[in-house]
Amino acid sequence: ATVPVRLGERSYDVVIEPGLLTHAGEWLAPLAGRRPLVIVADVNVADHLAALGGALDSVGVGHRSIVLPAGEASKSWATLERLTDQLLALGVERGDHVVALGGGVIGDLVGFASAILKRGCRFVQIPTTLLAQVDSSVGGKTGINARAGKNLIGAFHQPRLVLIDPDVLDTLPTRQVRAGYAEVVKYGLIDDADFFAWCERHGAALLAGDPAARTHAIAHAVAAKARIVAEDEHETNGRRALLNLGHTFGHALEAEAGFSDRLLHGEAVAAGCALAFAFSAATGRCSAADAERVAAHWRDSGLPDGLAAAGIDAPAERLVEHMRHDKKMEAGTLPFLLTRGIGQTYLDRGVALGEVEAFLAAQPRAA
Ligand code: NAD
Ligand code: ZN
Repeated sequence: ATVPVRLGERSYDVVIEPGLLTHAGEWLAPLAGRRPLVIVADVNVADHLAALGGALDSVGVGHRSIVLPAGEASKSWATLERLTDQLLALGVERGDHVVALGGGVIGDLVGFASAILKRGCRFVQIPTTLLAQVDSSVGGKTGINARAGKNLIGAFHQPRLVLIDPDVLDTLPTRQVRAGYAEVVKYGLIDDADFFAWCERHGAALLAGDPAARTHAIAHAVAAKARIVAEDEHETNGRRALLNLGHTFGHALEAEAGFSDRLLHGEAVAAGCALAFAFSAATGRCSAADAERVAAHWRDSGLPDGLAAAGIDAPAERLVEHMRHDKKMEAGTLPFLLTRGIGQTYLDRGVALGEVEAFLAAQPRAA
């Protein structure tokens, strides 16, 4: 499938197809022209880097690669400095395309390096985690982490092309696949109850690696993201903020877990969505049945359905304190994504943090 991202002169296509990596040359040769491509990857995708290199060889496109350490720590000033120096040493020009092959860490870092290299060069995303395929590779948010928090330094910089090969997920650890799946289901919870029902029926097959289920879900999620980004590219009118469903609660849990492998981002988002639904139910905004349906789907998918399952035992006060430091905080209030039911998420600016604290205090804790 090909999903267009419509952003005027910054428009581009997202191509989703099993096996795409092995004939990526057909897509990349026209972009490369006579110039060699620079591919940036991390150590865990070395096999996919070799496959991509082979695909470029077969169409006569030259290529160089830069391989970085894996992990969130690479979204740093130090790695950015090293990467931009290497790109300059390789002679990358403004008209050239840098290829980001990897998960969200590589995509965010390479996207930001491309945004600032010689005041902006072109780049292509080839995402290799489910999270990056359905979320971070599309939409143009790029950046690194600051001492004060995650993703606080960055730029909007859209890729020229996104190539998604669901087959690369065969090498991704199951836990990472599940975490990415939380962001897939999120699109159903936001505004697409039919898609949530599809996830209930086909989620298990998807997680087991069924190629058809995987491809369908990725294409559906990318189309949803493309639609929302086209409506609100720079997150100014509130539409794009819907993508943060489960992220305010989730952020507090991630902060509590020290942004470590104790709780992956997608796991925190799953628990965060469950909490947003439970809070909405507890305050009469949505039905208890819908909140329970969401929690049940997370349990069926091996994802945490609340504080206890996420391994969080922190007092409510401390969790709310983490929320206060959220970058979405506006003039003392935190706009919350709440829901009237599955597929009926909305931005609520009238939530008192005290109310959230009381709700969290009543939630079961990890033993
Ligand atoms: P990641 O890039 O760290 O990848 C997770 C792990 O999987 C890493 O160890 C990586 O080396 C490994 N890996 C990647 N592909 C693999 C494969 N095919 N086989 C085996 N191992 C593989 O993390 P992620 O979950 O992809 O992305 C998280 C990052 O994305 C965070 O920094 C987050 O802030 C960012 N993000 C950005 C946006 C955005 O809009 N720009 C949206 C959501 C998340
Ligand atoms: Zn997320």
